Amino acid sequence: MSEKYFIVTYGCQMNVHESEKIAGILRRIGYEEEAEKKEEADIIVFNTCCIRENAENHAFGNIGALKKLKKQKPHLLIAVGGCMTQEKGKTDVLKKKFPFIDIMFGTLNLEELEELIRKKKLQKKRVISIREKEGEIVEFDDAYRTSYPNAWVNIMYGCNNFCSYCIVPYVRGRERSRDPENIVAEVKKLVAEGYREITLLGQNVNSYGSDGSTGVTFAELLDRVASIAGKFRVRFMTSHPKDFNEDVVKVMQKHPKICRLVHLPVQSGSNSVLSAMNRRYTREKYLQEVEMLRSYFPEAELTTDIIVGFPGETEEDYLATEELVKEVNFASAFTFVYSPREGTKATEMPNHVPEEIQKDRIMRLVALVNSLTRQKSEAYVGKTVEILCEDYDEKKGLYLGRDEFGRMGYFKSEKNLVGEFISLKVTKANGISLFGEIVVD
Ligand code: SF4
Repeated sequence: MSEKYFIVTYGCQMNVHESEKIAGILRRIGYEEEAEKKEEADIIVFNTCCIRENAENHAFGNIGALKKLKKQKPHLLIAVGGCMTQEKGKTDVLKKKFPFIDIMFGTLNLEELEELIRKKKLQKKRVISIREKEGEIVEFDDAYRTSYPNAWVNIMYGCNNFCSYCIVPYVRGRERSRDPENIVAEVKKLVAEGYREITLLGQNVNSYGSDGSTGVTFAELLDRVASIAGKFRVRFMTSHPKDFNEDVVKVMQKHPKICRLVHLPVQSGSNSVLSAMNRRYTREKYLQEVEMLRSYFPEAELTTDIIVGFPGETEEDYLATEELVKEVNFASAFTFVYSPREGTKATEMPNHVPEEIQKDRIMRLVALVNSLTRQKSEAYVGKTVEILCEDYDEKKGLYLGRDEFGRMGYFKSEKNLVGEFISLKVTKANGISLFGEIVVD
């Protein structure tokens, strides 16, 4: 009988793609199948996130719940990796709380997982390897991708920005950019394999190559990727407003296959909060970038991330965020309540905002963002848009996919259309979703 694996992923897209790499490693060493549930697995890997406290608590809860299973099934291997293990002092906490963990590895040495599993199989003792400093980039060419027709491609790792609330630079190290030749080769291969949407990933894609190590800027890399022949879409995330620039927009203009949707996290509309966050741009600069983007593409859409209730945020600061949200007219936004992360500067700041005020602000902001999203969805009704079919929703009995602006569209089809571009005439909008009929040219 073949051995099975189960991966639990927390956090961002970066982690989702890293779990695809972990699956590739596990398959390479003989775990042939993905288990449907943890109880069936021979190895369970937790790919953790420590950006927000609740993701961390969630992981603790789920790891703890395996104590009984590990007793019943002693050959089961439990491995914990990701940002949490890389956090200062966290492996000691994990060791104490969960003595049944077999393997711990960090974000900076994912490639060692294969060796760590082999080692653990030969010894009783737990195996731990957490690298403290980022080393050379290790190329993975056997990620086991599970998101066809979409594929994520890392272009860089780490972050140099030290936003005062963020733990990422401490757990993912400084910026390292991949060799452009390797990135282009990976995208070419994915396109040849039939992937139809390629998302270039990095904590701050606009600073790709800014240390001079690649000889290529992000705009040049984007140009090279979008010049690859074939029908596919290109997206990129995340852009940092301090580095987003016109060169990138000019490349977007040159290549219609680059989606005219930019994820540009603003975090706050107040300059004093932005400065306390160490974001290194102002509200005015952010709005200038939006204006520049829309001067090339009036139809361009933006999505963003916003944190409310940052230490020192006044009602006036919060209202400045609301104003900015209305002015930019975001297509959607990921909204968060500030939560302190040990080891970051913001934790030490005075004037933490009381929880009830944070709650009130997030509710107001979510209502505002939802109303903008709804209005945008309604404006789609009657229009025909190009959708990349991504999946089949069994509950709804409908296929689904997204347009270039990331809007989800549902439709009926007798034929499996996953991986195909279709024209959808939108007949109904419901919240963030569109419903419609396929138009045959
Ligand atoms: S840019 Fe700021 S928020 Fe984003 S990963 Fe880097 S430090 Fe964190």
